[in-house]
Amino acid sequence: MARAREAGVGRILIPGIDLAQSRRAIALAEPYAEIRVAVGVHPNDTAEWDEAALGKLRELARHPKVDAIGEIGIDLYWKTVPLEQQQHAFRAQLQVAAELNKPVIIHDREAHGEVMTTLREYAPPAGVVLHAFSGDLAMANEALALDFYLGVDGPLTYKKNDGLRAIFAAVPLERILIETDAPYLTPQQKRGTRNEPAYVRWVAEKLAEVRGLTLTEIAHATTANAARLFRWPES
Ligand SMILES: [Zn+2]
Repeated sequence: MARAREAGVGRILIPGIDLAQSRRAIALAEPYAEIRVAVGVHPNDTAEWDEAALGKLRELARHPKVDAIGEIGIDLYWKTVPLEQQQHAFRAQLQVAAELNKPVIIHDREAHGEVMTTLREYAPPAGVVLHAFSGDLAMANEALALDFYLGVDGPLTYKKNDGLRAIFAAVPLERILIETDAPYLTPQQKRGTRNEPAYVRWVAEKLAEVRGLTLTEIAHATTANAARLFRWPES
């Protein structure tokens, strides 16, 4: 937290990956005004998803620290859980988001088609961010047409990722969120070590370079975007 503050990080949203971690995120957030939480069951953790889990998620989602449902989605890279079960849990959690009028943080790994098909039908009205966006420009444009946000993190700084930089140079600035995906996707500067909130500054710096803007302009715009999606007071 000290390093995050030092780096100018004013607000942190911790997503859940399962019910236990969602509870831990809430506990971690309690003493810090600047930490907010999303609760959700990540596709790779949906093996045990059932009616009881749904009830627990609904309960957690009502906690005053909770601003969103996530990470939820589909992962066809690890395939730890059959696609049908992932879909089942994904749809149920989108339903919870719609019921409680919360936005969703979407995990999509090598599942662009499945995720977009589901979201075309079930995207909750409060909003959607495709976190760690990894699709092409056509998918970005479709997401933008549906009013989704695109999340960008450490890979924007990786040397080989000119394609990703081209997408984030082209899409409207008011649709971009910056993230860490900590402990994963550490920016180039510290690649190979554990990611942490302070390092989001390097994502912002790279985005500024890619868009020909200043770090301050990027910080203001992406902070305003997060505030709009997660309904934070702007400060
Ligand atoms: Zn993810």
